[in-house]
Formats: sequence, structure tokens, C-alpha cells
Amino acid sequence: MIQSKIQRLLEDDFKTSKTISDWHKLFMILKKDVHDFIERNKIIEINEQGVQILYCTQCLKAHMLASARLKGIKKNNFIAMDELMEEQTGHDGYYLDGDELKRIDYMN
Ligand SMILES: [Zn+2]
Repeated sequence: MIQSKIQRLLEDDFKTSKTISDWHKLFMILKKDVHDFIERNKIIEINEQGVQILYCTQCLKAHMLASARLKGIKKNNFIAMDELMEEQTGHDGYYLDGDELKRIDYMN
């Protein structure tokens, strides 16, 4: 799951850093961001296994990278985040957030 992978990366980095780092700030921001994104975009499915929360991990990845970029994450950390998440980023240069189709324009 994307969320736990990112969380681990950010926590590991924080543990090894001696000061309150950019990573820690980013971690706190992204935690809320991920939560809010899922709230906006989740689909609730009820089946024989019970209630399941579904969302598109490719769109979540695109959104997280966009947020990280916006918060001024350093380039090497941004690349590390991108590589850590195995999912494709969005869909053909775009991702969906609520009713909005957003263009992925932060990769360069
Ligand atoms: Zn998607």
C-alpha cells in the first residue's frame, strides 16, 4: 500500500536525522493530504467481506507527488518518493481528484 511505504520512508529518514528535517514536515503535511484525498475520492463497496474503501492508487500517487512538489520537497527526495511507489503516476499525464481532472506538470 502506497501510504505505508511512504510513511516508512519518511519515518526512517526522520529517525536518522538529528534535527527536525524537511522530511518530518513533509510527513505531517502528506499524512493529512493522503487522508483528505482518500476522503474526497473513495468509493465504498459493500460485499460479502464487509465494507471496503476503494480508491485509485495511481491518482493518489500523482496527487502526493504534486503536493510534495508544491511544498518544496528537495529534488532527490522527490525522486526517491517517485521510485518508492511502484504504481504508475496518474493516467496518461492526468489524474482525477474529486470532479477535477488535473494535469501532471511537475515531473520535470
Ligand atoms: Zn486513477
